[in-house]
Amino acid sequence: MCGIVGAVAQRDIAEILLEGLRRLEYRGYDSAGLAVVDNEGHMGRLRRLGKVQVLADALDAHPLHGGTGIAHTRWATHGEPSEANAHPHVSDYIAVVHNGIIENFEPLRVLLIERGYRFESQTDTEVIAHLVHWELLQGGTLLEAVLRVIPQLRGAYGTVVMDQRDPSVLVAARSGSPLVIGRGVGENFIASDQLALLPVTRRFMFLEEGDVAEIKRREVNVFDKHGKAVERPEIESKVQYDAGDKGAYRHYMQKEIYEQPQAIKNTLEGRFNHGQINLSELGPDADALLAKVQHVQIIACGTSYHSGMVARYWFEALAGVPCDVEIASEFRYRKSAVRPGSLIITLSQSGETADTLAALRLSKELGYLGSLAVCNVAGSSLVRESDLALMTKAGTEIGVASTKAFTTQLTVLLMLVARVGRLKGMSEQVEHEIVHGLQALPARIEQMLSLDKTIESLAEGFSDKHHALFLGRGDQYPIAMEGALKLKEVSYIHAEAYAAGELKHGPLALIDADMPVIVVAPNNELLEKLKSNIEEVRARGGQLYVFADQDAGFTDSEGMKIIQLPHVEEIVAPIFYTVPLQLLSYHVALIKGTDVDQPRNLAKSVTVE
Ligand code: GLU
Repeated sequence: MCGIVGAVAQRDIAEILLEGLRRLEYRGYDSAGLAVVDNEGHMGRLRRLGKVQVLADALDAHPLHGGTGIAHTRWATHGEPSEANAHPHVSDYIAVVHNGIIENFEPLRVLLIERGYRFESQTDTEVIAHLVHWELLQGGTLLEAVLRVIPQLRGAYGTVVMDQRDPSVLVAARSGSPLVIGRGVGENFIASDQLALLPVTRRFMFLEEGDVAEIKRREVNVFDKHGKAVERPEIESKVQYDAGDKGAYRHYMQKEIYEQPQAIKNTLEGRFNHGQINLSELGPDADALLAKVQHVQIIACGTSYHSGMVARYWFEALAGVPCDVEIASEFRYRKSAVRPGSLIITLSQSGETADTLAALRLSKELGYLGSLAVCNVAGSSLVRESDLALMTKAGTEIGVASTKAFTTQLTVLLMLVARVGRLKGMSEQVEHEIVHGLQALPARIEQMLSLDKTIESLAEGFSDKHHALFLGRGDQYPIAMEGALKLKEVSYIHAEAYAAGELKHGPLALIDADMPVIVVAPNNELLEKLKSNIEEVRARGGQLYVFADQDAGFTDSEGMKIIQLPHVEEIVAPIFYTVPLQLLSYHVALIKGTDVDQPRNLAKSVTVE
């Protein structure tokens, strides 16, 4: 789930591996380690609990020399975060790093103990090291041994294996977790994300599902899941590593909140033509497919699921197309009935979310009309495996808690709704309203951001709270959900969201002075209903924070703090109202003193199920 970096080179590579790990730090992890082999076949291994900097300090004290090595940041799935469980794991002369999960590690462990192996960690990973060692004893090369191990493993993983006795080669296998090979001159690299390798190369070769690769200094040999030698295209990466610099910002989350006007502008750029939405990037056949759509099934996880929920309101209200939204981990394990003419839309920032990918693959067996991915990473598995893809242009998102990826997802989804709507008879007038709303949005958010100080002053009210309730109605209900998720993620305050009309069916029982209630209240046709819900809370002594349109007629009063927001076009209000909630969570997290960019227990790109 976290980071892998490996290298076969002539120069000392420990520092390069470490820099690679630093660039993957944003994903969230609990420990880090590396193993390096020199030309004489001596292997040095260092592992530390905690941050990459702790490992870097240890490396300063005990330098490791050698041109071949593997490194890892671990996000524990099996076994507590500890030095003993940190990767690389070894079996005599074999060293292994691994992302993901080996589901059948228990029977394998029993088998290996019977064969005389001793386990030094609680991880599932260690079985890979011993299995490779065992297979090598049976004969053949490291590649052949790994090829014999793979069919014995179940689960989603990416792994890189090194043999201390032969530092000329690393063997990597991709089965569910991404791996990319970086091509150098007289040296080659491997990583779980190209960001890790940008200091050393821009030439990349993405491994595909089931690929196994033999990486040597001057050559790379790739084999597909049938063991057949294959060529994978080499691409020149245009990805900007803008992660290194937080600029004037204290945290990436803050920087990314502030980047939203620009990220939305970038996402809109080139997608309008004479006042109409132009998604010609989808290719010449897309309109024919979209015109046939009778139903949309959206699949996503976490924050992306909330953008899917907003899109549902839009698809039905604006395009007249029935739409369902489901969490990927549920969809993939239930027997679902496919609606006629159903298009599957998957949403994922990274395009590597394990559950979403599995759902997409399942949908192909179920007979959907086609698939469309909305994603922030070009070349990701989700993009490659979908019929159509629309990219968000948010730029690299480093904060684990998603902000700009969410608002740009919504931007893209609204454009897609407009395109599908037009093909289905939505009026030009509605398209104009959408275009106008989207074009006005970056400036509206810019204006909103100037209220940061006001929002910051509210955060104090949350410093001693353990729970919070978020309320919204209609397309603001998912925004309330996203607000609650953000608060949970970064401040560790328990937060729930309810459709405001649902209050009296249960959650009203929770209301007292210790339960702050946050409400999103744009000036729309549900405002009067929402006001009644607000009164229900007030009457029971709840402390309200209402993010309201300046024209919605709210004023501060006992138990009710109003944050007056500039008026915004109704169609894009869900995107707009997300931003103050992000700022609120951010400021509450600062007061709580949490690790804002890498909240405990969380990882950025969730490549395990
Ligand atoms: N399942 C492995 C472990 O717990 C790998 C976790 C990861 O992806 O970092 O050690």
